[in-house]
Parts: sequence; C-alpha cells; structure tokens
Amino acid sequence: MGGVVARTVEKVGVLGLSVLRGESESAVPVIEEEKGNPVRSRCPVCNCGNLEVPFPDTPGFRECSRCGLLFTESIVPRNRSNIVYEATENAPGACELLDQEPRRERYYSMLVQRIGEKVRPPGPLLEIGTGTGGLASTMVGTGWSVEGLEPSKRLCEASQQLLGPGTSVHCRRFEEADPVLTLKPYRAVVAIDVLEHIPDPTLLPRRAFGWLADKGYLILQTPNARGLRRRIERGAWEQLAQDRHFLIHSRESLLRVLQGCGFTRIAIGTVSGTPVDGPFKRFIMRFVGGCLALLDLGNALWAVAKKEQP
Ligand SMILES: [Zn+2]
Repeated sequence: MGGVVARTVEKVGVLGLSVLRGESESAVPVIEEEKGNPVRSRCPVCNCGNLEVPFPDTPGFRECSRCGLLFTESIVPRNRSNIVYEATENAPGACELLDQEPRRERYYSMLVQRIGEKVRPPGPLLEIGTGTGGLASTMVGTGWSVEGLEPSKRLCEASQQLLGPGTSVHCRRFEEADPVLTLKPYRAVVAIDVLEHIPDPTLLPRRAFGWLADKGYLILQTPNARGLRRRIERGAWEQLAQDRHFLIHSRESLLRVLQGCGFTRIAIGTVSGTPVDGPFKRFIMRFVGGCLALLDLGNALWAVAKKEQP
C-alpha cells in the first residue's frame, strides 16, 4: 500500500500538535467484515507483512514494523469484541467505570476544555461510547446539543439517567446506529478511549466521516503505542488487555487511517495522566505531560481531524 504524503507540517499549541495539510496518498485496507482468516498476517492499517512480537509474555500482540500499530493477532468476531462491557448487568468493564465516576469530574472538564480549543458550541455533537454520561453531561452544560451511543445496557441507563430526557443516549453499537441518529450531520463526533476496542481500525472514522457536517471535527483519544509507559512497563503495560483492546495506535498508524478515511486536516499529539488523578498528580502531570508531548511520548494520542468537502 502507498505511503502517507503530507506536504506541510507545522507544530501548534502547547501540546506541540502537528498539523498535516495536503492530499493523502495513503490507501487503508477496508476490513468491514473480517471473515475467513482467523489470524492477521498483515498490518490492518498499512498492509505491511513485516510484523514483530514486541511482548514475549503477551504473544497475542503484533507490532507493525512500518506504521507502528499494535494489534491482536487473533481476529475477534464483532459480536464478541466488547463483552467485558456488554455481557451482563454486572459486566466488569461497566462496573469499573461506574465505580470511578465520582473521581472523574475534573477529567471531564479538562476534556471539554481540550475539545473547545478546536470547536465550540452550540451545535449538534455525537459522543460514541458515552459510558457513564459524565462527559456528555459536561458538554451539555457548555451548550452542545449532545446525542450519545453506548452499547452497554448498564452504562446506557446510567448515562440516560444522568442526562435526563432532553438528551438521547441510544443503547446500541455505532455500527448499527445509523437509523436512530436524529441530530446528524454533527459539528463534532467525539470518541474518547473507544478506538482501541474496535478490531477494524477504519470502521469508526469512516462512519464518523459520513455523519459529520462539512467542516465538522472528529475528536479521538486512544492509547499511544509508542508512549513512555509502554517502553517502561513493557509486557506489564495495562493497555495490553486482550479481552478489550484489539489495536493500539501509533501516531503514524492513526494518521494513515484518518487520511485514508477522507479527513484532510489532522492534528495528532499526545496527552498524559489518568481520568482519576487527584489534584497533586494533575499538577505534576501538567508539567510532565507537556514534556512528553514534545516527543510524542505521552500516555494517549489526542487527534482532531477535520472534514472538508472539496
Ligand atoms: Zn502498519
């Protein structure tokens, strides 16, 4: 497959986000339905066949030597992909999020502030993976008209209760959401910590591109395959959870996917910290995260991609 060609690159903002402009010549293979082949022998982003096993104790993960994508070798059927969140009333992933909720208030404010650096309310906004509803609720409070998608029944009920009847949270996967979405086209589609849960790397960005209005933004946060924590923790890195994380992007692999899906103006940087950091750790991470961002070594990738019709 062809390589990514970005004609100009500039650093912007305190996070050192790189903005790439120009036409893409990348071609991202489409894996809408992963049938037949039980394992991936090539990178699902750049189609490179030169794959490494970077974590000997977690041999299920492969790393593309060209674009840096980390991905599970076994192809997970879509109806099994997020069972840790969706399986039962007491799905462990859902319970964990609900337990953390009282400590995430400051995190939501920070996310809204970060989103507001690129696109401001009012307007329709879709959040994919509404979770407990905390971020959606904060965004409603700043003037957005929010619509939510949340496949976990337990979390969907929790978020709908928090948001009240004026905001819809649909209990379904984004893959089946098209008929129920009422506010599209959106000025912004937001998916925080969602991409890593979807085995097909192009599916969410392609759907989001279709749902966005012209000049709308896709905003993503997802773990950074080349972050400092991965390098320090190696096989013990918490993101190597094969029951819920099926691909972990590098900056380059995410850029290839977004360009291949039609986005023309893309900024990708890194951010650090966790949703439940206390005041002291937040203070420290503001400095440390800023330094790591200069080297693209932060915990997570933060991507803003604009849809512009020719
Ligand atoms: Zn690759």
